[in-house]
Amino acid sequence: GKPLLVVATHIHLDHVGSLHEFPLRAGPRHSAAYFNSMDDAVTYAHMFHDLEDAVSKLPAPGWKAADYKIPPAPLMRTLDEGDTVDLGDRLFRVLHLPGHSPDSIALFDEADGLFFAGDAIYDAMLIDDLPDSDRSAYRRTMQRLLDLPIRIGHGGHGPSFDAKRMREIANGYLRRTDGIGA
Ligand SMILES: [Zn+2]
Repeated sequence: GKPLLVVATHIHLDHVGSLHEFPLRAGPRHSAAYFNSMDDAVTYAHMFHDLEDAVSKLPAPGWKAADYKIPPAPLMRTLDEGDTVDLGDRLFRVLHLPGHSPDSIALFDEADGLFFAGDAIYDAMLIDDLPDSDRSAYRRTMQRLLDLPIRIGHGGHGPSFDAKRMREIANGYLRRTDGIGA
C-alpha cells in the first residue's frame, strides 16, 4: 500500500529496459536527460539486436530483436553524490561511482551497512571496456570502495558479497589495471 520508487543505477540496457513500467522513477543526474529518449548510443540497446537467442519466447508474433527499442522513461528525481533516499525506516546515501559507466550510482545505508552497488562493483567479470567506461575513474571508485564499511552488498550481477569479498574484488581490479590509464 505504499508508493514504489524505482532507482536506476545507470542507463545501460540491462538496468533500464522496463523502467517505463514503474510510475515513480529516480536515476543518476549525470545521464538524466537521456532517460527522456533512451537513445541506443547511451543504453547500448543495439547490442541486443544481433544477440543469438535474445528472447526465449516472442513477445508478439513476427517480433524481431532488430526492432527492439527501450521506451522513454523520464526521471521524476535525479540523484547524485551525497543525496539521500529516505524510506522512512531506512535512509540511503547516494554514492557516485563512475568507471563502468560515467553515471553509475549506488545506494548505501550508513546505519546498517546495506549496499546496492549497481555495476559499480559486483562479484563477476567487471566490464570496463565499453565506449563510455573509464579505467582511471574505475580505479578511483575501487580505492574508495576499499574503505566503505558495508555489511552486505548486492551488485547488478553475480552473488551478494560482504566487506571482505568486496575488498578482494576491488583489490583484484586494482592489481589487474595497475599502470593502465592511471
Ligand atoms: Zn552496466
